[in-house]
Amino acid sequence: MPIILTAAAVGLCLLIFVASVIPRGHSEEAIRLFGHAFLERADEYARLRYVSWVMKNAAIMMILAAMTLLQSGGRMYEGLRMHLGDTGGLFGTSLGVFLILTGVTLPFDYYSGFLIEREFGFATQSGISWLGDYLKSAAITMVIAVLGLTALVYISRRFPHTWWVLAAGGYAAFVFLWAMLSPIIIDPIFYRFRPVEDVAFKEKVIQMARTANIKVDEVLEVNASKKTLKGNAYFTGVFGTKRIVIYDNLLRRYPKRYSLLVIAHEIGHWSKGHIRNGILLSSLLGLVFLAILRKTSPTPLYAGDLPAIILLALAFIITTLPLSNAISRLQEREADRVVFDITGDTAGWVDLEIRLSRHNLGDVEPHPVIRAALFSHPSALERIRAAKEYLPQVTPP
Ligand SMILES: [Zn+2]
Repeated sequence: MPIILTAAAVGLCLLIFVASVIPRGHSEEAIRLFGHAFLERADEYARLRYVSWVMKNAAIMMILAAMTLLQSGGRMYEGLRMHLGDTGGLFGTSLGVFLILTGVTLPFDYYSGFLIEREFGFATQSGISWLGDYLKSAAITMVIAVLGLTALVYISRRFPHTWWVLAAGGYAAFVFLWAMLSPIIIDPIFYRFRPVEDVAFKEKVIQMARTANIKVDEVLEVNASKKTLKGNAYFTGVFGTKRIVIYDNLLRRYPKRYSLLVIAHEIGHWSKGHIRNGILLSSLLGLVFLAILRKTSPTPLYAGDLPAIILLALAFIITTLPLSNAISRLQEREADRVVFDITGDTAGWVDLEIRLSRHNLGDVEPHPVIRAALFSHPSALERIRAAKEYLPQVTPP
């Protein structure tokens, strides 16, 4: 099973690589809406990002595979255990593996997260400031991963029969807590948030939300312009931390009518319960992964096997990308339909999609393989088509 999963992940990476580098044409519709010059530049931007995604994941998998074959994890654990005891060995091994992985991914992330962004004129922060953010988020990931892996090994020792179910429950609780707490604890580490000031605008947002039968806790503006020129918005949180966050870039540089459409889309996610679905889906995938891990690993888990366990997890995540992204695209389409239902402004939506794609240099017509594997949202062309084909549901009198 681990071999099959890893082979599937490698195969998918290869497909993405091939789909990224082969030159291809565009449909007449794309050319009419966006023009040759834009499509060429957007294709170049997309190609660099996809190739770097493949390279990064290939590098991580190769390092983990090498560590597994050379039994470096076992040697690291046994060596540390002699000096620091069992707990120290366990902590040290997971920390060591994650430090190595961060070292491996840093150059790729610097290239795709900063150099490419600067090259295409999006980055507004300096390399040092980017690196500061990167190290902060790497540190957060590392703390969570090291604690999680240590707990996993402990649970497998303490409950030899049910550890995988217990771990799945723990993971589900973590996903839920993360959804609830990250907007108030993690996000402020990287950005400043403040309530949208325009009273008339906020009033309209609240009215729209009411039409969709939901209560918005907060509409916040984030100072994304400190780091990027791109425009976006997102919804986040559960219970009392539910919020809609809109990039200042979008709010300042676009007519209010468009900001409202973007927010209507986020309201759509809420009214259709997409945060809940996301938490459930992650928890389910966690359970499936742990079932695979139980089938393929000795119980209790051995700390020296951590590189193999992480490799299996990464292979699982990559292999299930087409599934999780297909579900995500369905939800995005559903949220778009809510926009049309509550605003009726399909013409505005078409115009907004064109503008945002131009502004963000979007891959408006991705290769089918790329779309299936990496696109959490339908492409701009698909969304434009859906808006044009939308028919309001007529309720009989
Ligand atoms: Zn969305």
